[in-house]
Amino acid sequence: MHIIVCVKQVPDATEVRIDPQSNTLDRSSVPAIINPYDSHAVEEAVRLKDKFGGKVTVISMGPLKAAEVIKRSIALGADEGYLLNDKMFAGSDTLATSYILYRGIQQVCSREPFDLIFCGKQAVDGDTAQVGPGIARRLSIPQLTYVQKILAVAPDSKDIKIKRKLNDGYEIVTSKLPCLLTVEKEINELSYSSLTNMLRGARYQPKILSAVDIEAEHAMLGLNGSPTSVIKIFAPSPRNQGEIFQGDERSVINGLIEKLHYRLMQ
Ligand SMILES: Cc1cc2nc3c(=O)[nH]c(=O)nc-3n(C[C@H](O)[C@H](O)[C@H](O)COP(=O)(O)OP(=O)(O)OC[C@H]3O[C@@H](n4cnc5c(N)ncnc54)[C@H](O)[C@@H]3O)c2cc1C
Repeated sequence: MHIIVCVKQVPDATEVRIDPQSNTLDRSSVPAIINPYDSHAVEEAVRLKDKFGGKVTVISMGPLKAAEVIKRSIALGADEGYLLNDKMFAGSDTLATSYILYRGIQQVCSREPFDLIFCGKQAVDGDTAQVGPGIARRLSIPQLTYVQKILAVAPDSKDIKIKRKLNDGYEIVTSKLPCLLTVEKEINELSYSSLTNMLRGARYQPKILSAVDIEAEHAMLGLNGSPTSVIKIFAPSPRNQGEIFQGDERSVINGLIEKLHYRLMQ
């Protein structure tokens, strides 16, 4: 099986500092990590490779520093990695990001077609959960989102059966391969990297692909290809402090009615 995993570099949310003057994220003080959902996606891909044979390829779009998340994925057991890097990619929204990743996947898989693509459920910085479905739509393959468990995979008959999370429970879904999965963290427990993989990851240099390499249309990239724009960033004003009514039942209810009545009269 050839399994692709999309991994994103994100700021470590546990270390995030907000600049009190500008109310924006102070990126300079924040270490970058692999998006936590994407570590679970790599783990699941490596487990399938160990079971059925094949290869795991990771792809990331980002600055040169994002090579770190590819090296981390190699340490987790992935086989090779590509970094999509070009100044034309800067300012891409989710539509443009999914286009760039789609072109990257097509380029990387031109000789070795993929069976499965894994994405995290969402990135912990952008938080939109749109990129995975965007890639699936562009590739015209089924998308299985919020995957909690892979129940069965049959590479020969090209079938997959998964359990996906719903607001009020779960559902079991089957699909044909190739398809794209976006995964929840509970899909697996992360394993420790072996020493061999850690050393491989430390030495690994991902292949870098530019807009020309992936034969991307310029109008689809960066700000040109991004129909959304950020109008304003602000911290929501703090809520007014609530009021606690104390005493026996009658006085609490009377106090509340009086308050509501007063509000209505205002
Ligand atoms: C107008 C606008 C301008 C923006 N400009 C910039 C900018 O200049 N620089 C910038 O860094 N961000 C920018 N962003 C944010 C950027 O668009 C998003 O971070 C990006 O599209 C991914 O969306 P998300 O974080 O919501 O990912 P989600 O859709 O929540 O991610 C889901 C999954 O998709 C995959 N994925 C997502 N992004 C990547 C990636 N880059 N590489 C590999 N896999 C990925 C991962 O598997 C991830 O778990 C901009 C956003 C907007 C709206």
